[in-house]
Order: sequence, then C-alpha cells, then structure tokens
Amino acid sequence: MKLSTHFDSSEFACKCCGKSITMSKLLIDRLEKMHSYMNAKAIYVNSGYRCESNPYGKKTDAHRCGIAADIRVQKQDGTYYTSQDIAEVAERIGFGGIGLMLPDSCHVDTRDSEPYSNDHWFGNETTGNDFIKTFQRGTKFPGEKSAEPDIKAVQKALNAHGYDCGAVDGIIGPKTTAAMAKALSDLWC
Ligand SMILES: [Zn+2]
Ligand SMILES: [Zn+2]
Repeated sequence: MKLSTHFDSSEFACKCCGKSITMSKLLIDRLEKMHSYMNAKAIYVNSGYRCESNPYGKKTDAHRCGIAADIRVQKQDGTYYTSQDIAEVAERIGFGGIGLMLPDSCHVDTRDSEPYSNDHWFGNETTGNDFIKTFQRGTKFPGEKSAEPDIKAVQKALNAHGYDCGAVDGIIGPKTTAAMAKALSDLWC
C-alpha cells in the first residue's frame, strides 16, 4: 500500500516474517521531508517494523512500535550520503531519536512526539550508545531552500516600474545598482 509519494508499506515490513503494522504517519511525513531536503534520488529502508521475534528487536525497540526506520539516502548521482549527513538533516527535520550506523546508514525515530520510554536519544549505534549532543556541522544540502535573494525577480520588478536595469540576467552590475539606488531614493524621499 502506498503511504506517501516515495514510500510503500511493503518497505517497512518486518524482515524476519514479512509482517506489517501501521507505521507512524509522522515518521513517513518526516522521511518525505528528508527526501526533498536532501534532493534524494531514493531513500532505502533497511529496517522498518520489527516483530516480537525479530532477532534484532529489543523489548523497548522503537522499531517494534512502528515509529522507527533505518535508512540509506541515495544522491542524484547514485552515490550515498554518509550517516553523519543523514543525521544532520534528521535533526533539522525534528527527529528526537537518531543513531549513526556507519558508514552510510542512520536510524531515525519519532520518540520525541510519540509515546515512548524516553523522548530523546542522539547516538552512535556502530560504536556503542555514545550520547551525541548535536549532528549539526553546517552542511549545505542541495534540496535546501536558498536564502539568497532572487536578483532576476528584483530586476523584473524594477524594469516594470520604469527603473531601467537593462537585461534581466541575475547579475548586479552598474545598471542594476543604479536602478536599485534610484528606486530606493524615490521610495524614501
Ligand atoms: Zn518478524
Ligand atoms: Zn533502527
């Protein structure tokens, strides 16, 4: 069953028996957000739901509650993001449970917003359960919305109001600079 644009319930079925439960909607929403934030080609679910007899599932496993996924994120060029990259975005999206699974997988769960035994855990599943404060390293991801101004839009607007920028080329040259200065001084005087 299709859960969202990029995810199907079959991807989250228990690896030991194929059993599925209803996965957290918040989990799926956040995975979709990650997909666009990272401009991913695909997000692969290594492990979603884990039943009671799944050898990897502990009693308190977030996977047993249907609120967790171990994922890999493929870039447009076919290579994979690192665990640290995935964790960095997961934290920005709001995941409260994040575990590095080096080199290129990451555990994410929504324990911050769903009933669970504790509401925060950032760690490293590969080297043990070290507690990590933050995964933020200031990485710029390709799907991230740019905070830079749209110069072409500014030039179009200036031209439309009689301030001559010349060509709408997205470059702040002498003509555009003069037009901006004139428009601003007209606005303020
Ligand atoms: Zn199973
Ligand atoms: Zn996991």
